[in-house]
Amino acid sequence: MADTARVAAQAYGTVRSAFSSGRTRPAQWRVTQLRGIERLVTEKEPELLDAMAEDFGKPRAEAWASDLAPVVGWASHARRRVRRWMRPRRTWPGITNVPGSAWTVPEPRGAVLVISPWNYPVQLALAPLVSVVSAGNAAVLKPSELTPATSAALARLIPEYLDPDAVVVVEGDAEVAGALLEHPFDHVFFTGSTSVGRIVASAAARQLATVTLELGGKSPVLVASDADVEVAARRITWGKLLNAGQTCIAPDYVLVERPVADRLVEELGRSIEQMEGPDPARTRTRIVDDRHLRRLEGLLEGSGGTVVRGGKVDHAERWVEPTVVVDPDPSAPIMQDEIFGPILPVLSVGSIDEAIRFVAERPKPLSLYLFTKSRQVERSVLEHTSSGGVCVNHVLMHILPPELPFGGVGDSGLGAYHGRAGFEELSHRKPVLRRPFKPDLPFVYPPLDEKKERILRRVL
Ligand code: NAD
Repeated sequence: MADTARVAAQAYGTVRSAFSSGRTRPAQWRVTQLRGIERLVTEKEPELLDAMAEDFGKPRAEAWASDLAPVVGWASHARRRVRRWMRPRRTWPGITNVPGSAWTVPEPRGAVLVISPWNYPVQLALAPLVSVVSAGNAAVLKPSELTPATSAALARLIPEYLDPDAVVVVEGDAEVAGALLEHPFDHVFFTGSTSVGRIVASAAARQLATVTLELGGKSPVLVASDADVEVAARRITWGKLLNAGQTCIAPDYVLVERPVADRLVEELGRSIEQMEGPDPARTRTRIVDDRHLRRLEGLLEGSGGTVVRGGKVDHAERWVEPTVVVDPDPSAPIMQDEIFGPILPVLSVGSIDEAIRFVAERPKPLSLYLFTKSRQVERSVLEHTSSGGVCVNHVLMHILPPELPFGGVGDSGLGAYHGRAGFEELSHRKPVLRRPFKPDLPFVYPPLDEKKERILRRVL
């Protein structure tokens, strides 16, 4: 414990003095760090892929496409734009301040604590750092203890590629995160579960630190009867099987209009078979640990629905067979808790309006997916539901465009990042007003009499 406290204090002290020295502020430092992130991921790709395979059997091609490649894209996007983002933005000072000038200038928040989860252990550690360094901050990164090989690789490589006093990695568990949260960081960037998010938010509140909370939840998929059911099934299956369903924005469950429900279930089965291929052992990602495996088993057992495909749990290999459960009990844990595994409940509904009501009665999801050809259905869903983000006729892909903010709302999070949104999130937009010394109008100064009041009433 004493050791944990000492490590936390040392890491905080290091990044605090790096930030106070002022060296993280210049554009050139930011560009160098962003290039460092690009180089780290590109040059150390084999090492990072080995670490993820060791941690949870993540297949290399999938790990590259979903965990490494996006980070390189986002870092290079930020590197090419950060000087533009840093520019002050002029605004109208208002009639009361003419002559005068008004503008806002983005300043770094300062010392930032980044706490990341295990499920995309490289992306969710480095993508927040892209925003952190592009906004000129220093940071302590606490990666997840559930992927120890990847966390150790990050702890080894980050000081090689980034300013070692301004970006410090501290490995460890919840206790270490708790010790770090005792320090007065200026901002806490947390990615993880909603329950831990609440703990982190209250710890940050004690320091009056601003927070970004990238949390989880149940992301629904709405399938209208006019959708291309075959393509919808293929895309939903792809999104659900990626990382064995251990994706914060994985399609969690499906609400499908009754006329196409049977066909969708059939197509889901077909897509699973195609994507699993003849040798699933080669391409399946493992469930991260036994606790999660038992949790998934429990969700299946108490679902109250019919398992129409899959359902096997392999304890020796830590696999759950891709599973489709039709019409589970909406009050069962499988329909209350985030599934975070390759199990897909499918519920049929009488109409998209019924699906909208179903979603609106529950905590706000991180993502909402809709399959339809109708713009009217699209408008109605967008207007009557709230979610962190929406993707129409696909799943997961809305995370990629660097200029689309990514984040949750309500139970699924607070704040957003990626691209300019991430730069703004990690900056304080400081308003500045400048007035010339002359004119210095006498009617604004006390004592105020009726004549001055008349003038003031005209100009204010
Ligand atoms: P988690 O909340 O258990 O852990 C996340 C991090 O918090 C880890 O580094 C962990 O060590 C730390 N932590 C755990 N307990 C803590 C405590 N009491 N105080 C401070 N820190 C603590 O989440 P996880 O299991 O690693 O990840 C899965 C969850 O994360 C899912 O709910 C998923 O939806 C969510 N998630 C969200 C996003 C997003 O971008 N919104 C991305 C990935 C995962």
